[in-house]
Amino acid sequence: MDALPVLNIAFDNSYSRLPERFFARVQPAPVAAPRLVRLNEPLARHLGIDAQALVSPDGVAVLAGNRIADGSDPIAMAYAGHQFGNFVPQLGDGRAILIGEVVDRSGVRRDIHLKGAGRTPFSRMGDGRAALGPVLREYIVSEAFAAFGIPTTRALAAVTTGDYVLRETPLPGAILARVAASHIRVGTFQYFAARKDADAVRALADYTIDRHYPELANHPEKYRELLSAVIARQADLIARWMLVGFIHGVMNTDNTSVSGETIDFGPCAFMDTYHPSTVFSSIDHGGRYAFANQPAIANWNLVRFAETLLPILGDRKEAAIAAAQERIDVFPALFQTAIADGYAAKLGIRDPGAEDAALIQEFLSAMATGKADFTLTFRKLADVVETPTREAELSALFSDTATLEPWLPRWTQRRASDARSPAEIAAAMRSVSPVIIPRNHQIEAAIKAAVSNEDFSKFHRLVEDLANPFDDRPGIADLKEPPKPDEVVHQTFCGT
Ligand code: AMP
Ligand code: MG
Repeated sequence: MDALPVLNIAFDNSYSRLPERFFARVQPAPVAAPRLVRLNEPLARHLGIDAQALVSPDGVAVLAGNRIADGSDPIAMAYAGHQFGNFVPQLGDGRAILIGEVVDRSGVRRDIHLKGAGRTPFSRMGDGRAALGPVLREYIVSEAFAAFGIPTTRALAAVTTGDYVLRETPLPGAILARVAASHIRVGTFQYFAARKDADAVRALADYTIDRHYPELANHPEKYRELLSAVIARQADLIARWMLVGFIHGVMNTDNTSVSGETIDFGPCAFMDTYHPSTVFSSIDHGGRYAFANQPAIANWNLVRFAETLLPILGDRKEAAIAAAQERIDVFPALFQTAIADGYAAKLGIRDPGAEDAALIQEFLSAMATGKADFTLTFRKLADVVETPTREAELSALFSDTATLEPWLPRWTQRRASDARSPAEIAAAMRSVSPVIIPRNHQIEAAIKAAVSNEDFSKFHRLVEDLANPFDDRPGIADLKEPPKPDEVVHQTFCGT
């Protein structure tokens, strides 16, 4: 594999300068016939990468791992993790390779990662590859998240490999070029903590502070503050997921980023019909990662994170544990505030107070008993604020309105003192409740067309329309629709 000066990516790699035990140096394994499916041009520009060069055969060869760009220093990162509650001391990048870091136009350091780039020392029994379906799913959902304004890894490009990967059946292979603020996970800390390697935990904590929380660098209690900062970002993140009806599906500690970005979109899904116990993942038998369990699981994951930091939180073990506990105990309140404020905004309530909790809870109950579509319902509420006579359209979304009917006058009453005009309130509501989300049945249809017929038109269209998720407009009527009974997706799969 030759160096490729033509691409001229200004790599500035820092993780690969950490101690050798943090990663394995690897080369992506070449693929048969790389073809570009889609390049995220605005993101490429933001990363300072020449989009023209990336779509050239040499650029596509880099995105497929067939060539190594100048300045790239490919590594597979070591990490561990709790999977469904069970600790696995070694996971690591088994099918993803960090090809390098760049500093983007906002001055933020970003990883460029090739997911599906071949075997690494962490592959265990896996083939190191990714199938096209999960690559397209991650592309669609992560870019929709970016458009929602929710912290997330991004999709820079998707390529097909020309090879088949064997899952239950042979499937076309693909590679996702993923961009992240970093790929440091709770599981990265666990990897070293499990080896009782406190020096490495400290080095990783220092690196994390430097990269994600530089304002803490000179704090006298910087590691305790790091714990608090990670807790705060997770509380905010999980609330924001739930406010768009998102279920991650595999909230293992190795899929929990310390930067506070959403990462590893496996069997993730958005709810159509609201119900707090909704689960889509085929492997989540106990409902561990059900919609409403997500804050409790994030809290659990953060306790695992705190445990890894104990050796650097204080000289005395008891004091370290007490400090960690004190920080952890803040999570439920942080989450509650974030979700309550978020729901209040979706209901058009300004300056929410404790007394609004019951109003929110009753509305959620009304949606659950009425089997209402989560996304459409919040948009319809905005229509009702603007034009009260449209209440019948709202009720029509509920199969049972017994809980909704007494709620509506209380909601109207709550807004009576708001000085904003109805149009202003409705506009504010629409700015926090997307009119389109990546619905499961549409993702499935896009994947099916791509996998069975090499027809990527549905995929492109989803990505393009979802880049603008809050504005209602002609041409998206079908994307607003919930699935018809025969289109409902009941299960999603990791596809690994
Ligand atoms: P994930 O389910 O993507 O969070 O991955 C969990 C672990 O399994 C990570 O260590 C992955 O690198 C590894 N893994 C998943 N799929 C594969 C694969 N096809 N080949 C090798 N390792 C894999
Ligand atoms: Mg993962």
